[in-house]
Amino acid sequence: MKQFTKGYAGNILRVNLSTRNVTTEPLTEELVKNYVGGRGIAAKILYDELAPGTDPLSPSNKLIFTTGPLAGTPAQSCSRWIVTTKSPLTGGMFRSCSGGGIGVELKSAGFDLLIVEGKADKPSYLWINDDQVQIKEADHLWGLLSRETTLAIRKEHQDDKIKVAAIGPSGEKLVRFAAIVDDRRTASRGGVGTVMGSKNIKAIAVLGSKRIEVADPDKMRQITRKHVETVKNDPKFKGFCHLGTASAVGFCHELGIYPVNNFQEGVLENVEGRLTGEKVDEIFVKDDHCQLCHIGCGMVLQVKEGSYAGDPIEGPEYETLYSFGGEVGNTDLGMIVEANRICDDYGVDTISAGCTIGFAMELYEKGILNREDLDGLDLTWGNHEAIIKLLKKIATREGIGDVLAEGSRKAAQKIGKGSEKYAIQVKGLELPGYEPRGLKGSGLNLATAPLGASHTIGQCPQEIMGPQAVDRFTPEGKGKLCSFNQDRVAIYETGIVCIFPMALGLIDLPTLKEMLFAATGIEVFNDEDYLFKVGARILNIERAFNMREGFSRKDDYLPTRFLTEPLETGPAKGHVFEMDQLLDEYYEARGWDKETGYPTRSTLESLGLAPVADELATLGKLP
Ligand code: SF4
Repeated sequence: MKQFTKGYAGNILRVNLSTRNVTTEPLTEELVKNYVGGRGIAAKILYDELAPGTDPLSPSNKLIFTTGPLAGTPAQSCSRWIVTTKSPLTGGMFRSCSGGGIGVELKSAGFDLLIVEGKADKPSYLWINDDQVQIKEADHLWGLLSRETTLAIRKEHQDDKIKVAAIGPSGEKLVRFAAIVDDRRTASRGGVGTVMGSKNIKAIAVLGSKRIEVADPDKMRQITRKHVETVKNDPKFKGFCHLGTASAVGFCHELGIYPVNNFQEGVLENVEGRLTGEKVDEIFVKDDHCQLCHIGCGMVLQVKEGSYAGDPIEGPEYETLYSFGGEVGNTDLGMIVEANRICDDYGVDTISAGCTIGFAMELYEKGILNREDLDGLDLTWGNHEAIIKLLKKIATREGIGDVLAEGSRKAAQKIGKGSEKYAIQVKGLELPGYEPRGLKGSGLNLATAPLGASHTIGQCPQEIMGPQAVDRFTPEGKGKLCSFNQDRVAIYETGIVCIFPMALGLIDLPTLKEMLFAATGIEVFNDEDYLFKVGARILNIERAFNMREGFSRKDDYLPTRFLTEPLETGPAKGHVFEMDQLLDEYYEARGWDKETGYPTRSTLESLGLAPVADELATLGKLP
């Protein structure tokens, strides 16, 4: 069997927590050539190994941690890691991405992938020290906040270089949108931390010492030097390197796409000077960055005065400035920083947490929930003290928090009384901070992305950036654009490359293929058409996985609010989302059947997925 040594560690580590079996398998040529790495390889393994209908919180579910062929090489912004699983929030295949250190460390320990399966019989953590792999007791860690867990493990092994990905108390309590926190970065969406909690795994701690070889080190260094120079000198990067996405609040507000009061509007009164960049800058402490990234769009902030004064913390990014800002009618920046801290400490996704609170606030506004239902909380828009109290209740599943910890879709099913229409989610995943009525291409991605409403997997930057920005209100042409963007992100996530250098034009596709070739020496990776086929293959295998779980066209709809209620204020005033027209065009671009949303046999076969077509045919899911 071919051994991959350049750009890859060449091995898959598999840990079965139930049997305590630890095995190593070679990375096969079939996986590498057809799926490159990262998200692609994980999607193929989960499709092959997870039986349809598996309960996401049962021992049978798997957590697949992956790195990519660029991780740990000199390449910038390329050392992110991905965890893939069946989501307890959506019931479909899910991948969550982080820029923390365990990806590179895992590869330095000799593994491109870590597959965790089964369930430990008591609280445990995984300790990977090069090829020494142990399942260790974690009674002393259970109940700790995520950062306390990291510090405790480092202290236990007396080594600060150990990288730790941990869950907080919310993952232990199976809050359905629990995150995995890797130092200051998180794999936050879809309940990946919930699955880790269900396996009784508090943390994964890794220390690696092996060198990561690349095929053409000179070429890699040359590309990296160019990137570092561009980031230093191109004015386009100045603002982004400083405040990152946090500077986007004013921009989105001006475009009328900053969600307000659970997506009832797209502009927020008084947001200027309260949540916009200059206000964030007032509490700025220092820049921060993911592992091996010169852009460094992260930042450390500190509130020094008022009721939310506290220690410096990393973030918040734009998504949290939306989910605990406009989404809940709040303009108190200190409260958003505090909410960010609670989410990171307890280990919950800030988007789903804020959006689920926004959902509860609208139910309160509409009289579906009253103060008694809400443990006495007055959930009036912008009541930041009540929002913080409710967030803590959700993070610990206390009182009404126990219902809301299920996410807005399941919570609505429990609450009833017509509350479903106020749950702003797709496939169970709450929406990020972009108003679909003012961004038709990005809205179409939120509807059709395999994860549910995820902006990271195929947002259309062409609608708001660049000299030739496309008309964001027009539905025409968005099916093709959305399909292109989703395939393109899938290619980057084989690397695993951050999407910001892609959107900002720093790492364009011609450069990415050069980098993949220089890292691995695999000639076919130096071909854009080949890589686009890989991207489409990934999207189709993720789609096939979801189809086995019962997903179809009906699951690709945005909430009815966007389809029937025109926005009343701001630049996107009067617009609704032309759902069926957009979906039809998207399915056509993908080669999927318009009636069912299923890929056709010819589409699957053209991507080398004939066995997938055969399986779907036996399930009656091939048009
Ligand atoms: S651009 Fe920002 S999110 Fe992307 S890798 Fe760099 S620091 Fe991380």
